[in-house]
Amino acid sequence: MCADFPDSYWRELDAKREYPEAFIRAMTGSGYLGALIPEEYGGLGLSLTETTIILEEINRSGGNAQPAHAQVYVMGTMLRHGSEEQKREYLPKIASGELRLQAFGVTEPEAGTDTTSLRTTARRSPDGDHYVVNGRKIYISRVQHSDLMILLARTTPLDQVQRKSEGLSVFLIDLREAAGNGLTVKPRRVMINNETNELVFEDLRIPASSLIGEEGRGFRYILDGMNAERILIAAECVGNGRWFVDKATHRATERVVFGRPIGQNQGIQFPIARAHISVEAADLMRFRAASLFDRGEPCGAEANMALLLAADASWEAANVAVQTFGGYSYDAEYDVERKFRETRLYQVAPISTNLILSYVGEHVLGLPRSF
Ligand SMILES: Cc1cc2nc3c(=O)[nH]c(=O)nc-3n(C[C@H](O)[C@H](O)[C@H](O)COP(=O)(O)OP(=O)(O)OC[C@H]3O[C@@H](n4cnc5c(N)ncnc54)[C@H](O)[C@@H]3O)c2cc1C
Repeated sequence: MCADFPDSYWRELDAKREYPEAFIRAMTGSGYLGALIPEEYGGLGLSLTETTIILEEINRSGGNAQPAHAQVYVMGTMLRHGSEEQKREYLPKIASGELRLQAFGVTEPEAGTDTTSLRTTARRSPDGDHYVVNGRKIYISRVQHSDLMILLARTTPLDQVQRKSEGLSVFLIDLREAAGNGLTVKPRRVMINNETNELVFEDLRIPASSLIGEEGRGFRYILDGMNAERILIAAECVGNGRWFVDKATHRATERVVFGRPIGQNQGIQFPIARAHISVEAADLMRFRAASLFDRGEPCGAEANMALLLAADASWEAANVAVQTFGGYSYDAEYDVERKFRETRLYQVAPISTNLILSYVGEHVLGLPRSF
């Protein structure tokens, strides 16, 4: 399927900053977007290991899984914590692509890494019939190409909770009803072709039935989904890393300078070999984390380590490709500059590699906490 969407497809979209509608349609038609949804709710019911292979392959082929990946895993919050009624109503439609759940609203201008400081509030009406949402979110992807959004908001004020992680709740927002009725969507242009937005909530009214799970437990629910997300994105990075290594290898073999292929020079050859080794090593951690996840065993350390190793390895491979292509790496026609920009994201979002280091330092090694 990816072969139907060659580099030229992604390159043209990147130039026009357009959404890959045809690719998403093909992904939907194939059922791949419902890979993690159990068969009883209309999905493919695949394991996480298998699902990582789908996302890896998209990036490895030269594409970008990012416009599609949220539909694969954002529904996990509902699958794990939603009511049976919510699951029966939404999951089959998400699996078939009839409803797009591509948006996940967590980050705020004043609360990025420090999630529990978020200021968006959802206040329940006295009769319990609805909530009223106020606040702002920043850098929220795919809102204009999504029907639904998972939103994290504070339902109990900070001064009434013992810990900042308490009193946050998760909601399923119907964007089709919300946009223009209390929700304003302001596009932000970013380094890559990703539909990214600022969201402003001004007295947005949402039905009480939008709440997923129990009120006040939202932060825990979001954390529950993190391991799967980290492992899936690690696989995307592995896909990018392999794409860069392949490109650099071909170029180093074909390109003749001073009468010989540049790859004959160890100054060019060794960095490519080293990048390949880094990508392969990261891939082992990705499969180890995925198999622990699929067996239902703890995998927080492995999921985090897989993402850091894969994000770093793909970035190393990206830089090696730039050096190997020389000036051509800056030419959009060779795709290296596009993929270079795309793969850089994963050291910053969805989580900065700094936070992974702090997780491993403090939670795995037991070092003193820094925050
Ligand atoms: C293209 C794009 C798409 C995105 N899509 C979404 C989306 O769909 N939904 C969503 O909710 N968010 C999204 N984000 C936001 C993204 O998740 C955040 O940008 C990211 O979590 C980092 O938050 P921040 O930008 O506020 O960084 P900040 O919190 O300002 O941190 C800046 C830097 O300081 C570091 N830092 C902060 N504190 C410490 C510390 N104690 N120790 C060490 N280092 C520290 C951070 O690790 C980071 O490197 C997207 C971002 C981008 C760029």
